[in-house]
Amino acid sequence: MHVETLGDGHPDYTIVACVHGDETCGWHAFNRLKASDVTLRAPVKFVLANERAFKLGYRFCDVDLNRVMPGDTESDKHEVRLAARLRRELEGTKVLDFHSTESTGCPYVIVTGEDDASRRLAQSTGLDRIVDMSHLGGGVTGPVTGVAVECGYYDEEGAASRAHRILLHFLAAEGLIDRPYARSTPEVYEVFDDAPGQGFTFVADNFREVAEGEVFAEKNGTARRADTDFYPVLMSTHGYDERIGFMARHVGRVEEDSPKC
Ligand SMILES: [Zn+2]
Repeated sequence: MHVETLGDGHPDYTIVACVHGDETCGWHAFNRLKASDVTLRAPVKFVLANERAFKLGYRFCDVDLNRVMPGDTESDKHEVRLAARLRRELEGTKVLDFHSTESTGCPYVIVTGEDDASRRLAQSTGLDRIVDMSHLGGGVTGPVTGVAVECGYYDEEGAASRAHRILLHFLAAEGLIDRPYARSTPEVYEVFDDAPGQGFTFVADNFREVAEGEVFAEKNGTARRADTDFYPVLMSTHGYDERIGFMARHVGRVEEDSPKC
């Protein structure tokens, strides 16, 4: 794990990159910020979380870091030990955690708790969609006030430049840099189940409602039909080994300056 603070003093914010080692957009965003002439009004901490996996170009070495919080310093698994260290770095700070993905529909915010403070942070990203993954739990931002953002396809330039834009917007909206911003009033999609399956081709669109009975995936000429209405989120053909992605319901919009949705 690589930790670096820009500015002097104790930081109230932590920007996290590479919880998944092959999702490099947050690291590029940080380096672009560092190379620019932007002046920070307060110190900000940056964490390259899974440095070992990042250097190898892997998602993880032993287990998915995003699924093993709060970790254990005595574990024989790299990411379980790392989770314990990462948790200490994040404690007491507000967290923005950068990811990229196989699935379409980016960019959007992921929250893993109902807390209003995290929803307010989500508005500071300027993005229009929140996916609430509390159903799944376990993410690195779960125990803290924090959000994750999905910026685009893996290590493509598009994801990196989008991550850089989101980072600048977030820092401006949180009062850390001087720059125009517009806090968003995002639509909220709450995950209620996953769609298990191996080797399926995803044929619907993320964030477009699938009606009961509609085909949303296919495999060897066999259609997979929805048994209830839902919005696909993080669904893709190759993104996961054992699931197509997640099923969500649309639960409304976060109002500006109102933490409830
Ligand atoms: Zn990720």
